[in-house]
Parts: sequence; structure tokens; C-alpha cells
Amino acid sequence: MNKEYDVLIVGSGAAGLYAALQFPENVNVLLISKRELTLSNSSLAQGGVAAVLDKSNDNFKLHIADTLIAGKYKNNLQAIEVLVSEGPNDVMKLKEMGVAFDLDENGHLMMTLEAGHSRHRIVHHKDSTGRAIVETLLEQVQTHKNVEILDHTLLYKLEKAENGFLAGLILSDGSSKIIAAHYCIMASGGIGRVYQYTTNSAIATGDGITLAYMLGARIKNLSLIQFHPTAFAAENDRERFLISEAVRGEGAVLLNCDGERFAEKYDKRGELAPRDVVSNAIMLESRAKGNEKFYLDITHKDAEFVKNRFPMIYEKCLEENIDITKQWIPVFPCQHYLMGGIDVDLYARTTVDRLYAAGECSHTGVHGANRLASNSLLEALVFSRRAANDITRRLNENKDKPFGEFPESENLAGKEMPHGFRTEIRKIMQDCHFVIPKPEAVPDGLKRSKEILDNINNGGYTINQDFVEARSLATVACIVLQEALENDSK
Ligand SMILES: Cc1cc2nc3c(=O)[nH]c(=O)nc-3n(C[C@H](O)[C@H](O)[C@H](O)COP(=O)(O)OP(=O)(O)OC[C@H]3O[C@@H](n4cnc5c(N)ncnc54)[C@H](O)[C@@H]3O)c2cc1C
Repeated sequence: MNKEYDVLIVGSGAAGLYAALQFPENVNVLLISKRELTLSNSSLAQGGVAAVLDKSNDNFKLHIADTLIAGKYKNNLQAIEVLVSEGPNDVMKLKEMGVAFDLDENGHLMMTLEAGHSRHRIVHHKDSTGRAIVETLLEQVQTHKNVEILDHTLLYKLEKAENGFLAGLILSDGSSKIIAAHYCIMASGGIGRVYQYTTNSAIATGDGITLAYMLGARIKNLSLIQFHPTAFAAENDRERFLISEAVRGEGAVLLNCDGERFAEKYDKRGELAPRDVVSNAIMLESRAKGNEKFYLDITHKDAEFVKNRFPMIYEKCLEENIDITKQWIPVFPCQHYLMGGIDVDLYARTTVDRLYAAGECSHTGVHGANRLASNSLLEALVFSRRAANDITRRLNENKDKPFGEFPESENLAGKEMPHGFRTEIRKIMQDCHFVIPKPEAVPDGLKRSKEILDNINNGGYTINQDFVEARSLATVACIVLQEALENDSK
């Protein structure tokens, strides 16, 4: 069954949900999510949201300066100004909606410090801020009658339909349907699953970036990938549990295999240097020691404080037989965040008319070469709101024009795709483009990724979630490695 909507939103993370809330009642919206509605990177966010909320001790200039320093001045200053000046309002809206940010004994928002921030400006809900935000936003969206929500619904193709509208081909209940929409907001999240080890949720396969790319949208800085220095060093799990920066913010120290502090050897900011600096320090120290064992130590802090401040981390580590109030936590860097993405302007407009992008799949230029901790949820909120407001304005001009012809629906049936493509792509990315990239490995890695992509595209395989995600991983790997190759030859 084909259907028409004013707006198609792809994703039920912070960006997609917050966008959905902005539309007036007369705008009909379809919001889709390829898995359960709460399975997303947003739900995993621990540390919090950065915003200037206490002007007696902080100001926009300081937040802007911190963002620029972390981003190595490769950021888009205008985008940061929008983020920093408008963000506090969006955070207060979340609070009004019911997000239970932690409060001090006087009922004021508690603000913590994270690496790279010169002021305490991170608001949080214990160590599960993302989940608190997603649950509240979801509750709110569910009360908006103009928003239809479909979970387990996968966008696998985006096309330009007649009269310039967009047509999204979706897989829902095992069959293909066509959604015609005046506008689409891609809020499909990051690419972590292109690596062997990542903190990202299973949904982070870069589908939105791939579909926008296939439609001709400009993709920018996809090789700018952030590696988190302190993921729990589990032996086998692909999704690695994050030991939030806030743990270091509260005084945890990094130790090498000999139990020695080393971070200050590489940067005078020590454990509180920006993520890329700390990740680099760990990799260099591991080379120097010939050992990949590293630890975070917070045992010197009061046990009750630690349990209360980091209940989720405490519980998760206990499940791995580590009591963080008494034992060191084994950690190692892994993929965490994507700075680049679908290139957008200050209203989240991509280079394809009517296609918007917000959140981790987008490139606003806010983060430059490296994201400042806790700026990403803020970016998702600010730019998804701006996307929705811009669309509402444009809808008032376009709404009554007819859609024209729907494109043909596709035959999904085909051969079974061989196993192993995803595993191979992950290995290539881990070898070629991890914390300290290996330029000498990139040409071969790129060649093989292109072969895999070519095989996926031309193999006549059944179109299902596995196919779509494998295609996304291969496409993302090709774009990242091509960019890395070009940057290296500059
Ligand atoms: C462990 C962890 C901790 C973090 N901590 C913080 C923090 O403390 N502060 C901070 O600011 N940031 C943090 N981040 C980063 C931040 O959480 C993300 O950048 C942000 O939440 C991304 O939101 P999003 O809405 O863009 O994407 P997501 O929240 O990842 O949502 C993506 C959505 O798109 C859907 N989707 C994807 N592809 C398709 C498709 N083909 N069809 C249909 N639906 C699709 C998914 O199902 C999902 O609903 C953290 C990230 C991780 C992984």
C-alpha cells in the first residue's frame, strides 16, 4: 500500500523524535525506525548534554572556544554559534517536557565537567541521560496525533518522484511499500558498526548516509571519526560498553599495564584532554610498552558516591565481575562517533532539494576535526528543530501541489547474499583507519571494499535488512577510505 505524507522522518533517536515534536497539527508526519524505537545511539548516551545554563560562571564565548579547540579549528563557526546560543533553550524544553535531569539540594540543575570543557556545563540524568531523553521524547511524540510511528520499518531506497517530491521505499511487515513525502528528514544516526569494536548501537550502519549519497547528496568529512579512549575492554563483544568521560571528570585516572599514570606524558591536560588526544596517548603508550592492557581507577573515591553517580556503569561492570569501587576497570579505545556525514547548511538542508539531515548522520561543521564531549545530543536537538521549522515554513508554500506518479515498486526477491561481507569490511576499517591510521594499508583496503560493494550491488541478492546494511557498510568504507587516500596525498 502506497501512502502520502508531508514529512517522512527516518529515525527515532533524539534527532528524529525532537523533529517530530516541532510540526503543527496540520502537518502529517511518518516517523520510522528500523528496529525497536528505543534502540539507538541516543539511548546509549551516558554523560549528558552540554549547554551554557549558568551565566554567572559560564558564557557562550567559552563554550564556543572549547568547541573550536577540541575541533582543531576545523569547525564551522556560524554553526557553533547557532548551537551554543540556541541550545540552552532546547535543553530547558526537555526539562519542561519531563526529562529528570539531576538536581542539587537547592533544586538547581547539577552540572558536571567533561574532557575539553573549561566549565561545569554538562546536565545529566545519572549516567543514563540518553535513555531519559529518548523515553520522554517518545512519550511526547506518542501524544501527537499528526505523527504516525512505525517501528521495525526500514528505509532501503530514496528516490526523486514526479514534481520533485521524495519517495521512500520501505520494508515493513516483510513487504515493500512506497512513501511519498514532500520532505524527508534523515535522522538515521552513525556508522559505528563499520568497525569491529564500537560503542554504537546495532542500528549504526550508515544507512541514511548511504541512501543520501545514492541520491546525489554531498557527503563531507566521513573520514573524521572519533574513537573513545575508555570503552570497557571486553574480550569478544562487538558493542563495547562505554566508561563515560564523566568518570574521568569525577577524578578517575588512567593506568598502563604496570599500574602507572601516563596521560600527562603525552599532554599536560592528562586524563581530561580531548578524546582524540587521550586515545592517541593510549595507542602510543601501548606501542611503547608492547601491551594493550589499560585501566581506569576510581577506587580512591567514596564508594557510595561512585555507585550513586554512575549506577549503570557500576552495574554493567559488576556483570563483568569488576566492582569499580574496589577494582580497576579494563579499558581500550574503540570507534565512538562520526564527525562528518551528509553535508547540511544552518537549516539542516542537504544539497538535495527537500532532503534534510540532522543528528549524527549529518555534517553541520559544528564538531570540526573532533567532537567536544556532550555537544552531539545538543546538535541533534538544535538542528532537527531548525529542520522542522524550515520545512513547516516551506510546506505553507507547497502543500497543495499534487504528488504526481508514484515510482514503480521493486521486486525484493533474489539470490541469498553470501556471508562474510560485513566481517571483511569491519576488519579492513579496523586495519586501515583506527586511532592512528595506516596510510600504507588504505589502497588495498579501498580496492577490496569497492569489490565487495560492486558484488553487493550487482549480485542480484534478495533485498532485506541484511542486504541493506551490508551495502551501507561497504559504501561507508569506500567513502571513508577514498577520503583518507585523498587527504594523505595532499
Ligand atoms: C555509548 C554512547 C554514549 C554517548 N554519550 C553521549 C553523551 O553523553 N552526550 C552526547 O551529547 N552524545 C553522546 N553520544 C553520542 C550521541 O548519543 C549520538 O550522537 C546521538 O544520540 C545521535 O542521535 P541521532 O538521533 O542522530 O541517531 P540515533 O540516536 O542513533 O538514532 C538513529 C535512528 O535511525 C534509525 N535508522 C537507521 N537506519 C534506518 C533505516 N535504514 N530505516 C529506518 N530507520 C533507520 C534507527 O533505528 C534509530 O532509530 C554517545 C554515543 C554512544 C554510542
